Parts: sequence; C-alpha cells; structure tokens
Amino acid sequence: MRIRFWGTRGSLPKPGRTTLRYGGNTSCVEVRTAAGTLIVLDCGTGAHELGQALLETERHPLRGHLLISHTHWDHIQGFPFFAPLFTRDTEWDIYAPGGLGKRLEEILAGQMEYTYFPVTLEQLDATVRYHDLVEGAFEIEDVHVAARFLNHPALTLGYRLEVGGASLVYAVDHEPHAGHHTDAGDPDRVRPVHQEDQRHIEFLGGADLVIHDATYTLDEYPKRVGWGHSPVEYAVDVAVAARARRLALFHHAPLRDDDAVDRLLAECRARAAARGSSLEIFAAAEGQVVELPERGRRDAGRSDDTARRLMVAGGTGLGLKTVLIVDDAPDIVTLLMRALDGEGFRLLSAEDGESALQIARAERPDLILLDWILPGRDGLEVCRALRAESDPKLRDVPVVLITAQTEPEHIAAGFAAGATDYLTKPFRVAHVRSRVRGWLLRTSATADGADR
Ligand SMILES: [Zn+2]
Ligand SMILES: [Zn+2]
Repeated sequence: MRIRFWGTRGSLPKPGRTTLRYGGNTSCVEVRTAAGTLIVLDCGTGAHELGQALLETERHPLRGHLLISHTHWDHIQGFPFFAPLFTRDTEWDIYAPGGLGKRLEEILAGQMEYTYFPVTLEQLDATVRYHDLVEGAFEIEDVHVAARFLNHPALTLGYRLEVGGASLVYAVDHEPHAGHHTDAGDPDRVRPVHQEDQRHIEFLGGADLVIHDATYTLDEYPKRVGWGHSPVEYAVDVAVAARARRLALFHHAPLRDDDAVDRLLAECRARAAARGSSLEIFAAAEGQVVELPERGRRDAGRSDDTARRLMVAGGTGLGLKTVLIVDDAPDIVTLLMRALDGEGFRLLSAEDGESALQIARAERPDLILLDWILPGRDGLEVCRALRAESDPKLRDVPVVLITAQTEPEHIAAGFAAGATDYLTKPFRVAHVRSRVRGWLLRTSATADGADR
C-alpha cells in the first residue's frame, strides 16, 4: 500500500510562506495497493493536484474510489476541481456517511449549484456511482474497508483499510468522547472511560499507519470542546494504546505554521517515548509518500456486487423514528427539540423518570436522550429499569445520558447503569444531531441486517 498526502491542512486552505513545508491544502490522501486499486480519502483542495497527476500519469480507462469522511467544506471543496470527474473513460465510486437527511449526491450537487459553481453535478463526464454508508465493513476490490462513526458535529466516518496484511486507519475530524483522561496512578497511561473512546482505540488497533486528527493541543482544547477535533496528545495516547506502528499528525490547524508543527511533533515524540512506546510519529506533509509493505496479495477484481452490499440503510428509507427527550429543564427540552426538528423524527418528551418509563413502554422509542438528574427516579434508575424490561426493543434502546458530570467515575457509573452513550453539557446542537443520527443508523443497520 502506497500512501501519498495531497492535502494535510484542516478547516481552511492555508497557502503561503508559513505553511510551505507541511502544506496549505485541505484533506486529501491517495492510497494505492500493490494490485493497483486506487482509493482517495477525502476531497479537500489537495484533490486538485492529485486530479492533474492522475490524468497525466494514469492509463485509461481510469477507475477510482473516493471515500469521504464527511461533507464539511474542507473535505469536499476540491471535488468540483477534481479533473478525472470531467473526463470520459473514467469511473468513480464515491462513498460517504449517509442514510438520514440528504443523500450524498444531493449534498455534492449543492456545492455545485449555479450560485456557487458554473458546472453542475449532472455535467460530469465520468461515470459516477454514489454510496451512502453507515458503520460496518465492505470490500473495495482487493481492500477490506471498515467504517466507524467518529465524534464530530456532523455525521463522520473513519476508515480502516486492510490489504495483504497492511493496515491504514484514517480518523480525521474526531474528538474524544469524554475529555481526555489519563490514569491517576500512572499519568502516562491513557484511560478511556467512555466506551466509545475504548472502541476508537480498538478501531486503530495494531494499524501500520494511523492518520489522525491533530488539530489542537491539550492547552487549546478546553475552549474548543465540541468543535469535533482532537488535541494532539490524545492522538498520541490512543495510537500508543492501540499499539499502532506509525502515527501521522493530520488536519493541521490553519494558524499552526511550519515551525509550530515541528515543535508539536517533538513534544509528541517525547510523549510516546515517555510511555516506552516504539510508535513512530511524523507530521503529515503535502507530497509525502509512505509505503506499507503488503505480504501476500489478493487479485484486484471488480467488486460491484460487494459494493452494492454496503451497509447502506436505504437513503432516507429508515422509516419514522421516535426519539424520547427526558429532562426536567424546559429550556433543555426546547433546545433538544430544536436540534432534532426538521430531521423527520417523531419527538416525545417527559419531565421526570417515572413518566419517561411510562411513555417509553407505551411508545417504544428508537432512541432516548436522558438527563441524569431528574425528579423522582433519576436517569441512572431509568436506565436500569429499561435494561430490565422484557420487551427487547426497550431493553436494547440506545440511551444517550446527558449530564454536566465529567468525572471519570460518573461516566463509568452511567455506563454501568446501562447507558449506551454519554454526552456532557454544555453540548452543541450539531453534536447532538450527529450523535442521534449515528445511533439510529447503527441500530437500524443491525436490525435490518448489514448486507442489504
Ligand atoms: Zn475538517
Ligand atoms: Zn468537519
């Protein structure tokens, strides 16, 4: 597997004197397997130069796969400037998280509307197929792909690519689910208290290369909690905990100049060394190439059949989903209602634990947003009661516990009571929306079978 970085900057293209070495273009990474399969991770402004290079060097017909993490601008802005899309004899499969709300094709068409761009999506000359993804695994030619929802204010997927024993994880636009905790007795050891942080480490497990969001530092992070990006120390700690071989710091903050990236890199290396880890760390630079040797090789074949068996939840066809919001503070209920309004959900609310349980039994919601502190039975008791129900739908309903308690022991208590997820206040509306979408899509995919 050969990996080439075409864009490494986060949030905003930042060309100029201060970013010459690490680059100013936004997210775009080319992956090429020994058998020749071409996968492009994200389509930020770095895709412009990649497109030119592909047209100059590739044999035609050209066939490629574009995996988009999410559709924030910095990950799709290069799309209308990606020349292979305007060329006959080229074929692209484009994948991105979807399944609720607008479909990928509509979103990409949106940034190419007449007001923003002179060419529309229908005018692309390439043959393009769109795939709306949820969490799960599928094959792209000789590559096994696992996709996992990340923690970002938009529904975002991280991708793990494996071929011939070589593995690459692309986890960009992600932040810790519950702060960043280290072990009190051993501050050098990361201690994931949120189940989703533990699963994130498992997703990175043993990878030859992890390309990880490294937008902030731990000092900068407290003012930016909920913006959906990682402190670089977290990136190091999870990569160490996952026993990854190499870590590429990625999605550099627009204001981080080359010298600042160098300083950050030195600190990261010292941090990994202090943990006795052999993790190799580098800061991803535009133009940089990394080779991951493949052992054994599968034939690259056309995988249209497998591509069709993606865990696509069927566009917006999830059916009407019911979300129960439980909070005794009317302003929080209003805020959550507003966050989920327009998502096509049926929204119910309750002000205390007892009525929450009654409504849950009568209405069998698909997801519950549950405040911890409630009059009468509190959130933990409601959780325990739900998990003890005989109705499997209630027993397994995803419960997102909402609380201002951020201490590790509180978070652990929430999960011990049966919470599925733990969201700390203050939260951003966009974050709630992406968490809710993520859990509804996950449970729908499980319930409907992943191979539809
Ligand atoms: Zn981004
Ligand atoms: Zn983003």
